[in-house]
Amino acid sequence: MNKQFPLTGISSVAMHASGKENADFSHLTPIYASSTFTFDTAQQGSDRFAGADKTRIYSRWGNPTFTTAEETIAALESFGIKDKNGEPLQVKALLHASGQAAMTTLFMSTLQTGDTVLSHFSLYGGTHELLHKVLGDTGVKTMIVDMRDINLVEEALAKDPSIKLVHIETPANPTIKCVDIEAVTLLAKKRNILVSVDNTFATPYLQQPFKYDVDFVFHSTTKFLNGHGTAIGGVLLGRDLEFMRTKGWKWHALLGGNSNPFDAFLLTQGMKTLELRMERHCDNAMKVAEYLAKHPAVAHVNYNGLPSHPDHAVTKKQMRHAGALMSYELKGGLDAGRRFIDALQMCVRAVSLGTVDTLVSHPATMSHFGLKPEERKQFDITDGLIRMSVGIENIEDILADLEQALQHA
Ligand SMILES: *Cc1c(COP(=O)(O)O)cnc(C)c1O
Repeated sequence: MNKQFPLTGISSVAMHASGKENADFSHLTPIYASSTFTFDTAQQGSDRFAGADKTRIYSRWGNPTFTTAEETIAALESFGIKDKNGEPLQVKALLHASGQAAMTTLFMSTLQTGDTVLSHFSLYGGTHELLHKVLGDTGVKTMIVDMRDINLVEEALAKDPSIKLVHIETPANPTIKCVDIEAVTLLAKKRNILVSVDNTFATPYLQQPFKYDVDFVFHSTTKFLNGHGTAIGGVLLGRDLEFMRTKGWKWHALLGGNSNPFDAFLLTQGMKTLELRMERHCDNAMKVAEYLAKHPAVAHVNYNGLPSHPDHAVTKKQMRHAGALMSYELKGGLDAGRRFIDALQMCVRAVSLGTVDTLVSHPATMSHFGLKPEERKQFDITDGLIRMSVGIENIEDILADLEQALQHA
């Protein structure tokens, strides 16, 4: 594709922003299953190590199949955004073996002993544990405040000069809380503090944190970006290109959390249909939420697309649609929850999210089982809470399955 041709839609970007590394006229970037790349001469080898020749050396440091996925994600996250000079924003993506590996690169490359991360409740379980159980051991501290109250963020930043990174996850499990990215970033930037956003639940189609000047965007690509549940992966994107090419890249390459060509290929294929999938995911989710909110067996629905959700206004401010994740509490509590989950006929019993099919889980006994009971309480994970990632099946079938299963609740 001609790089000068201006793409005006995000699906076009998802399909055509990358894919220039095609060998032998192959339509798709192939799966470059090769650990190393050859040199024609000794001089060429030394040129590549010196950086004068940008072609490949070794797949832990980069591989053409990774590059296609990375360039696509970078194009999606920066789509339509201008930098301070009015030029199209450039961001760099580093693809990792998992979301956890990308998160490790983020934290390890930006923080050192004595520094503090400011974050909030309801973080993804793995992020919470990485901060407390791994970074805690290296002397990096984590401070948690309810970032939906902007005064608490201001107070924390003013009080503790050791805060070096503000990490936001929005929307977040399990009650789909949302944080105002723009408001928090404005406060952090006044003090030159870095801001990272976990954009996994939203995807760049629904929300683009780089619009608000954040420094880093993170994804578990395992979820909506891949979309089909075929691979684990993660990506770290940064707007400081120099940092991403030097320190960010160094930690990424030396910690060894690189992706693999097959997973990167699957991710690239999945992203091509991101817009279509997200439209249908969100449309179905709204219908499911409205149905559940009216059902007599359901005590409460947490979905940020419903006007009753406390973060509905923030959702409307920064997201195109509310997303596909929700949770709900059955009136019958834990036992009703178990009976309901066991009675499902089509919806799939599994943790994870963002796959084309509908996934239903029980956080208290599954994804957040590793937390202490008092921590689960802080995270709003009650025993009877059901978490649902609404898929793109036909809505009539999703509703019919819920209807019959709720009769057992
Ligand atoms: C899944 C997930 C992660 C971790 O990603 P993995 O790919 O499982 O390592 C981080 N944040 C959020 C919001 C997630 O959903």
